[in-house]
Amino acid sequence: MSEAAKHYDLICIGGGSGGIATARRAAAHGAKCAVIEVDRLGGTCVNVGCVPKKVMWQAAHTAELMTRAQDYGFSPVTPKLDWAALVKARAAYIERLNGIYARNLDNAEVDFIAGYAHFTDAHCVEVDGVRYSAERFVIATGGVPGRPGIPGGDLGIDSDGFFDLADRPQKVAVVGAGYIAVELAGVLDALGSDVQLVVRRERALRDFDEAIADAYEQSLANHGPTLVNHFTPTGLEAAWGGYTLHAEDGRSLEGLDQVVWAVGRVPNTDDLNLAAAGVNMSDRGTIPVDDWQATNQDHIFALGDVTDNPYPLTPVAIAAGRRLADRLWGGQTERRLDYRDVPTVVFTHPPIGTVGLTQAQAIEAHGDAVRVYKTQFVAMDYALAPKEAKQRSTMKLICVGEEERVVGIHLFGVGSDEMLQGFAVALRMGATKRDFDETVAIHPTSAEELVTMT
Ligand code: FAD
Ligand code: NDP
Repeated sequence: MSEAAKHYDLICIGGGSGGIATARRAAAHGAKCAVIEVDRLGGTCVNVGCVPKKVMWQAAHTAELMTRAQDYGFSPVTPKLDWAALVKARAAYIERLNGIYARNLDNAEVDFIAGYAHFTDAHCVEVDGVRYSAERFVIATGGVPGRPGIPGGDLGIDSDGFFDLADRPQKVAVVGAGYIAVELAGVLDALGSDVQLVVRRERALRDFDEAIADAYEQSLANHGPTLVNHFTPTGLEAAWGGYTLHAEDGRSLEGLDQVVWAVGRVPNTDDLNLAAAGVNMSDRGTIPVDDWQATNQDHIFALGDVTDNPYPLTPVAIAAGRRLADRLWGGQTERRLDYRDVPTVVFTHPPIGTVGLTQAQAIEAHGDAVRVYKTQFVAMDYALAPKEAKQRSTMKLICVGEEERVVGIHLFGVGSDEMLQGFAVALRMGATKRDFDETVAIHPTSAEELVTMT
């Protein structure tokens, strides 16, 4: 067996959110580290996830504001989008980020190894025929979009393909019921496409608090994508007139210019040769880890989307990696990520923000000790809008026990995305409803509703 080209304290496989964060923090503690990445630095988030998505959301939000400008006396504007110009500017922004990530690794004295890594044994990986060994490994290889195993499932596009679109499709079906489906459907709708959001059950976002899923569904009745529910796709056909999407019950959607699959993601473990390292894998292809991110091999860790992490989000992968590095090289022996009460935002129009328990989860855990506060209102953003254009916001606080500790905060409405972070701090600190009530409101805002609920 050939000698390893180089030996490290830590090799991170995957140069996305988790791998880069772990390596940089470990290097800051003095470890000699390398990151191996087969594609562009920054991973899913930077290249085909959070970042390009938020740019598209911002474009969509801008289009909405332009159409509403006449409420404030501006002459009517019909926004005309140059899709190619938007995509070009977005690509340039991401390229700058790729460069910043590379410089950050360099400044931290972390080696960057370009290529695809697979294990040759429990202490070695090979990249393009070159072997590298390490005391410890972090597997942070993330995931890729999944597709349904139905005839024509390979036609149409997924979220990666969405970011490659050279033109805006006119008539689109977005299939799926999670974050990606509702976000991409919302963006396409706001930018002028005729969008059908195709869900196989009653509604989208079933895992969210019922009030939020309800509010989102009601908002679709007034504006945005058309909800097509109870539609289980059984096949997709391509013809001259466009795509036809078939359902189990015989219905079909015809004349589609594009179909976007957003039916979940698949972990990147297929070609890692985990067996050579003796690392276990689940049936789903994820890597099981304990509370300390350790796999069944003591010196091999995994984090982020490649694990069964309940929150496949960028800040979660980063937080898990930094805490792991603090524990292994920073002497902070008890440091690990607590996966409870992770705040998260869905960039719909308007956005959704949620942290802590849903009402159903709270009742399951605490029974009759649960008290719920809920409000619905029209945000001042719509003060001058015609009645039919006014969007309702929904807010819900879930409290537990006599002291009414706040265990869940659920928001749907303008500004929820920027509002939630601070309230998540309060929830984590154990704030009670009384603490909320004792906080003087900021007027006139939507956020004040959270401290004035009765
Ligand atoms: P990744 O970022 O996926 O990084 C894994 C990297 O490993 C990839 O670059 C891959 O090329 C590389 N790799 C894989 N196998 C190998 C190998 N064998 N050798 C070398 N390299 C390898 N999260 C949010 O918090 N907010 C959002 O708004 C948000 N929006 C999203 C929108 C979309 C459309 C998508 C798809 C995801 C979004 N996410 C969002 C989720 C977020 O992108 C992921 O949770 C996050 O990127 C996971 O980080 P990671 O380090 O686990 O994996
Ligand atoms: P999700 O797993 O969240 O949602 C996919 C949904 O699609 C399923 O829950 C299911 O809903 C539905 N579905 C599954 N298979 C089929 C099928 N064959 N036909 C029709 N519908 C199907 O995956 P996403 O890909 O949307 O997102 C993955 C993760 O990425 C998210 O969980 C989130 O953590 C992260 N993300 C975060 C974002 C953010 O922070 N803003 C944005 C985007 C992604 P049902 O069972 O109800 O039918």
